[in-house]
Formats: sequence, C-alpha cells, structure tokens
Amino acid sequence: MLDYWERRAKLLRRKPDQNAETAELGEEVRLASLVEESIVDGPGLRFVLFTQGCPHRCPGCHNPHTHLLAGGRLYSLEWILSLYDKQLACQGITFSGGEPFLQGGPLAKIAQAVHERGGDVITYTGYRLERLQELAKEDDGISALLAETDLLIDGPFIQERRSLETPFVGSSNQRLLALSIKGEQALEQIDQFNEFR
Ligand code: SF4
Repeated sequence: MLDYWERRAKLLRRKPDQNAETAELGEEVRLASLVEESIVDGPGLRFVLFTQGCPHRCPGCHNPHTHLLAGGRLYSLEWILSLYDKQLACQGITFSGGEPFLQGGPLAKIAQAVHERGGDVITYTGYRLERLQELAKEDDGISALLAETDLLIDGPFIQERRSLETPFVGSSNQRLLALSIKGEQALEQIDQFNEFR
C-alpha cells in the first residue's frame, strides 16, 4: 500500500491538461502541477494546486522538482477557476507545493473566489505560522493568503520525524491549524476520519 508521501508524489507526477490555455492578460500563478480531484490533500474531494518554487529544501522532500522558481508553468487565475467550477463534487481547494506563500497574492484571489462559491481553503507551508505572521507585516500577499486560509498545515518536512499517524501531514512536527470556522469544521472531519482508520 502506498504511504501518504508516495500517493502525493504520484498525483504530482500527473501532467495537467496539455491543451490548457494560459491567458496573455490578467494575473497568473506558477504551478508545478494541478490535480482536479484528490482525496489525499485534506478532507473530502479536493482541487489541488501544486505551486512552483520552494526555499525550504527539506532533506527527503518528495517533490524536489517544485523547488526551482523558474520551473513549472504559468496558468491564468481565470482558467484555474473555470476548471474548478467544473468539479462540482469538490469540497474546496488545497494549495500545496512548493511553497504557496511565495505566490500569496494570486493564490489569495483564487481562495477568495473559492470562498464565494462556498468551498474551503487548505494551505500547506514549510513556514511555521508564527514566522508567516511576522512576514505578513511586510508582505501583502502573505497577509492576504493567511486571511483566506481556513486550515493551515505548517512546518517543514523533517525526515527523522516522518510519521503516518496524523492524516495529511508528512512528519510529526507539522501542525493542522484552524484559522476560521470552516477550518474548525475541516479539523472535525479529519478527527472523524481518524476514528475510522
Ligand atoms: S516545504 Fe515541502 S516542497 Fe518545500 S522542500 Fe519542504 S517538503 Fe519539499
């Protein structure tokens, strides 16, 4: 049976729609990959963006191809949302990486649109929440994405603390932090999921 990281890496290797159009105008986000339906990146069925670029370089990272800022491909926010709108069964969106907070501004706009559609927003980050709160004082993008995140899964992946105990995290130092009522609801879903494992 594939473990958590192996399942995520398998999803990440899937190529996005090769016919996807990227807009010449409007805001864009740089992605390593996009998955329209995932059950391994948070509770419920989820639309997942794997962002490109990560400064953390955790030893043992399963997604090393997301590290370079120059990699991946640009996608327009409009096109991403048009794809999201086709996934009627999705509970919400997950931003993974890479490091999503490197592109906080455009991701916050996607998150806001997902909220307007009734969905919830989960953001993975290699930073700790306390560090993000410091950075947010001088970075509007980080501040905006924090404000639009319901459930934050924070902290770097630490190979020596790799764990399969808690769903949706890779190592035991990583925390699931509810930042809103929707985040608390997502945590309750995860607790229920845990009881049936
Ligand atoms: S934060 Fe995530 S993507 Fe970045 S190096 Fe660590 S495990 Fe890899």
